Amino acid sequence: MSTNTIISKSPLLKGSGLPSFGEISAESVVPAFNQLLAELDQELTTLEANVKPTWNGLVEPLEKLTEGLNWSWGIVSHLMGVKNSSELREAYESVQPHVVQFSNKLGQSQPIYNAFKALRASDAWAKLEESQQRIVEAAIRDAELSGVGLQGEAKERFNAIQMELAELSTKFSNHVLDATKAFSMTLTNPEEIEGLPPSLVSLAAQAAQAAGEENATPENGPWRITLDSPSYGPFMQHSTRRDLREKLYRAFITRASYGELDNNPLIERILELRQELAKLLGFETYAELSLASKMAPNVQAVESLLEEMRRASYDAAIKELEELKAFAGSKGAPEANDLQHWDISFWAERQREEKFAFTAEELRPYFPLPQVLDGLFGLVQRLFGITITPNDGQAPVWHEDVRYFQIANETGQPIAYFYLDPYSRPEEKRGGAWMDVCINRGKVTENGVTTTRLPVAYLVCNQTPPIGDQPSLMTFNEVETLFHEFGHGLHHMLTKVEYAAAAGINNVEWDAVELPSQFMENWCYDRPTLFGMAKHYQTGEPLPEHYYQKLLAAKNYMSGSGTLRQIHFSSLDIELHHRYRADGGETPKDVRSRLAETTTVLPPLPEDSFLCAFGHIFSGGYAAGYYSYKWAEVLSADAFAAFEEAGLDNEQAIKATGKRYRDTVLALGGSKHPMDVFKSFRGREPSTEALLKHNGLVAAA
Ligand SMILES: [Zn+2]
Repeated sequence: MSTNTIISKSPLLKGSGLPSFGEISAESVVPAFNQLLAELDQELTTLEANVKPTWNGLVEPLEKLTEGLNWSWGIVSHLMGVKNSSELREAYESVQPHVVQFSNKLGQSQPIYNAFKALRASDAWAKLEESQQRIVEAAIRDAELSGVGLQGEAKERFNAIQMELAELSTKFSNHVLDATKAFSMTLTNPEEIEGLPPSLVSLAAQAAQAAGEENATPENGPWRITLDSPSYGPFMQHSTRRDLREKLYRAFITRASYGELDNNPLIERILELRQELAKLLGFETYAELSLASKMAPNVQAVESLLEEMRRASYDAAIKELEELKAFAGSKGAPEANDLQHWDISFWAERQREEKFAFTAEELRPYFPLPQVLDGLFGLVQRLFGITITPNDGQAPVWHEDVRYFQIANETGQPIAYFYLDPYSRPEEKRGGAWMDVCINRGKVTENGVTTTRLPVAYLVCNQTPPIGDQPSLMTFNEVETLFHEFGHGLHHMLTKVEYAAAAGINNVEWDAVELPSQFMENWCYDRPTLFGMAKHYQTGEPLPEHYYQKLLAAKNYMSGSGTLRQIHFSSLDIELHHRYRADGGETPKDVRSRLAETTTVLPPLPEDSFLCAFGHIFSGGYAAGYYSYKWAEVLSADAFAAFEEAGLDNEQAIKATGKRYRDTVLALGGSKHPMDVFKSFRGREPSTEALLKHNGLVAAA
C-alpha cells in the first residue's frame, strides 16, 4: 500500500464522517490532540498571513479549521459524558486547557477580526446572503466582546478585569460550597426525624457515617442533615419539627454571608468590575453588554416582560398563600395564620399529597420506552411530515444499548440521523439528559463537487434499563425530558441552512435556544398524543382518566408563587447589572429588599442573604441573563398556542401549522435573528398571553 501504512491516521483525526467509536481509546487522545493542535496552530498562522476579506478567503478556511477541531473535540467530550473512565478523564484534563487556549487565540485573532470588518465594509457585503451576513456579524461581535477592538491601556485594563473576574467567580462558588459544607445538624432522637421519607433517613445515616459516626444506621441514627439540596429540600418538605425546619432554614439563607466565607464584598467587587468592563466595550451598563448577544432587544423589553408576568402572578401568589394557610388551619396547625418561610415547603407538600395523590412510580407501567418512541415519532410525522426509521447497525456505537435512527423527508429522502442512548449507566455515564451535535449540516466541496453533509445528533437520557423481558418503563417526567431533548434535536436536524456556523442550534441567541425544546414538552399534555402512547405495557389498558386530570392539575400547582419567584430573581439580576452603582447609596442587599416589596408575598427575613449564594449570576453564565428562562418559556408557549388556535383536532390545520413551524423555527436555525424567525412563524412578536394561560394565570388588564 501507499505511505499511509507508515503514518496510519488516528481515528480521532479523521475529521469527518461518523466517529469509529470502537477504535477510539483513551490512550490515543493526548497524541492525537498534540498533533491536531500543532497542525491547527500552523493553519491559523498561515490563514492570518494570507487572509482575504472575502467569503472564500476568510470564512471558508476558518470554518474548515473550527470544524476540524469541533469534530475531534466533540467525540472526546461526548465520550466523557457517556463512556467515562479515569484514563479518559486524565487525558481530557490534560488536553482541555490547550483546546481552550487555541479557541481563545482564534477568537481574539487581530488579523481575522480585521478581515471580518473589511469584508463587512466591502462591495461584496451586499451580495452575501442574510445567513452569511449574520455569521460575519456574529464573528465581529464576539471578537469585540472578547476585547479585540481595544488598544493599549484599555486592552490591558480589559484583560486585567477579565482575570480578576475569573478569580472572583471561582472564589464566590468555593465560598458557597464551603459554607454549605460547614453547617450540619446531627439528630439522635427518633422524634427529630419524624415525617422524613425513608430515602432521606438513609441518606442522613450515611452522611453521619461518613462524618465519623461509624455505627450510624437508618433505624437508630444518628442522622446528619446538611444544606446540600438532596438533604435540605426533602427535610424542609417533610420534617414535622417546626423548630428544626426554622434552624435549617436560617442556616441556609445566611450561607456565605459572614466571616471568612463572606461573599458580600465579592458581590460588590464583581458588579463594579462588570460595570467597568461594559464601559470599556462602549456599553452604558453590563446588562446592555449581556443583551448585545441575546434575542431580547434591550433592557426595557426584558423589564416589560417581567412586569407583565409579575402583575399576572402576584395576586395568584397571594391567593395561594391564603389557601395554604387555610389548608394548614384545617389540619390543626397552630402556625396556620402566621406561616413563616420554613413552613411553606412543608405545607405545600402536604397539600400536594392530598390534592394529587399519586406517585411518579404509579405511571411507569403506562410508558414503556418503545411505545413512547412510537408516540414521539408518530407526532413529528404528523406535525412535520418526517419519517423516522431504525438504522441500527449502520453506525458504530459506544455501547450495545445505543440505537441509531434515520430521518427522511416527505419524499423518503434521508435528511438527518441520530443516536439514542436511553439508559442509565452510573459507572460510566453522566446523569441527566441532553442533546449534542455529532455532525453539523453544511455544504462540502471536494474535488470540485459540492454536496450537502447531513446533520447527526446525539440524544442521551438516563432512564431505567429493561429488566428481563420487561421494557424500560418511564416516569412521566422522563417522557417530558425525552420530548424536550428531541426538540433540541429537531432544531439541529431539520435545519436547512448550509453554512455550519449558522445551521441548527449554531449561532442561535442564548435566550431563544430553548424554544424548540420546551415547545415539544407541551405535546405531552395533549390528549391524543398522550393517550396514543400511554398504555399499560402488559394489559394494553389506556392511562386512567383520573391520572390525566391529576397531571394537568399538578402542572400548575402553586404556579403563581413559582412564577413570582422566578420574576424576583430575574428582576434582581437585571437591576443589579443595570441601575445599581457602588456609590449609589444602596447595597446589593438593599436593592433586593426594595424589589422584594413587589416581587415576593412573604418578605425575606432581615438576615436573608440569598445574593451571597446566587451562583447563577455571580459564578455561572447567567449574569444579566437569568430572565432567559422566562423569555424562552414565553416563546415556546406562544408557538404552541399557534397550534391550539389552529385547532388541535383539526388535522388539516395542524399539518399546515406544523409545516410553517418546520420551515421557520426549525429550518432557519441561526441564519436569521430569532425575533425575525419567530415573527415569520407567528406573524407577530411574541406575547405572554399563552404562557399565562398555560400556567393558569390570567393577565391583569
Ligand atoms: Zn433544553
